[in-house]
Amino acid sequence: MDLETLLQKNDFDKQEICFLLSLQGEQAKKLLDKSLEMKLKYLDNKVHLRGLIEYSNICEKNCLYCGLRTHNAKPVRYTMTDEEVFACAELAMQMNYGSVALQCGERSDKAFTDKITHLVEKIKKVSDGKLGITLSCGEQTKEVYTQWFNAGAHRYLLRIESSNEDLYYKIHPKNNMHSFFRRLECIDTLQNIGYQTGTGVMIGLPFQTVEDLAEDILFFKKKDVAMVGMGPFIPHSDTPLWQYSEIIPNKKDRMLLTLKMIAVLRIMMPEINMVSATANQTLDPLGREKAIMAGANVIMPNLTPNKYREEYLIYPDKACVGDKPEECYHCLDLRMHSIDHEILYSEWGDSKAFLKKNAIKQ
Ligand code: SAM
Ligand code: SF4
Repeated sequence: MDLETLLQKNDFDKQEICFLLSLQGEQAKKLLDKSLEMKLKYLDNKVHLRGLIEYSNICEKNCLYCGLRTHNAKPVRYTMTDEEVFACAELAMQMNYGSVALQCGERSDKAFTDKITHLVEKIKKVSDGKLGITLSCGEQTKEVYTQWFNAGAHRYLLRIESSNEDLYYKIHPKNNMHSFFRRLECIDTLQNIGYQTGTGVMIGLPFQTVEDLAEDILFFKKKDVAMVGMGPFIPHSDTPLWQYSEIIPNKKDRMLLTLKMIAVLRIMMPEINMVSATANQTLDPLGREKAIMAGANVIMPNLTPNKYREEYLIYPDKACVGDKPEECYHCLDLRMHSIDHEILYSEWGDSKAFLKKNAIKQ
């Protein structure tokens, strides 16, 4: 396959994606250069922020990769108080972040789902409607998703984790609580309700092949999602997948593979929002900047009170755990300037792809 000819296109089939994901050295750089060119053309050098609130580490599920899984007895389980959540929202306002993302372990009881509704309503109120709200609170019923949407949440992030059903069940227990088809259904439901819906996968999982990753990209395209959040898998010693740490790609390869995934997707879906995951910085001190240069356009600075951060270790060595929110503010601004990118403050930073599609529908 001739790389130069391939990079003239903006849509690829499975075989072509596999080829692009296998590039190394100078050839990989050509792919990354092309995706940066596409991003600058369609989205300019602008970066959107989502102030991340890690609301609770209580989780009913048992995903085999995640430090928050219910069978991991190590984390001290917490749920932030309402006041703490509103204080985070106020901090986001003070720092002109424009939007917040509320993320947590999965619970389905009514006390929890009603609480999220209340928090969303109140964040809207205290910010006078100025803060955009993304939720990432796992799989819920259509009624619950609708309730949260009506309360004011407008974006939802639910990673499919892998679009290959077999691989999905290698990284999740196969039981009622962890159903591949329910996950798929939830993504459809979110889109039908009207959320800007985001999904994504972990990269460098045990048993994952380049073909699986190519299918993941084709899945995002087929679903026509508004946002994608993908990042490297980082093994956690208190989880079952730790035993496969030796068979996954090394840190450098996982990082490069992540960058190539972002790059290919940016070329194929030039106007979606794509997050540069914090996990990138765990693998490489400049990982978040590299992901932005590969085509990502969203960063999620952490607003969670420091006392809780050590307990929200989905994976080990999370970056910025000890940083104060005000430090993140200056650090991110400098980091983005160092790569000639500019943070857009005080904006919701909606997905251009989503806005266009909806304008056409109306
Ligand atoms: N509980 C919600 C859910 O699962 O959708 C939201 C929170 S969950 C911690 C957010 C994401 O963390 C997951 O979708 C997963 O992809 C990612 N994650 C969990 N464990 C990870 C690990 N060991 N390495 C990299 N990412 C991980
Ligand atoms: Fe819970 Fe989400 Fe972690 Fe799975 S990935 S154990 S649902 S927090």
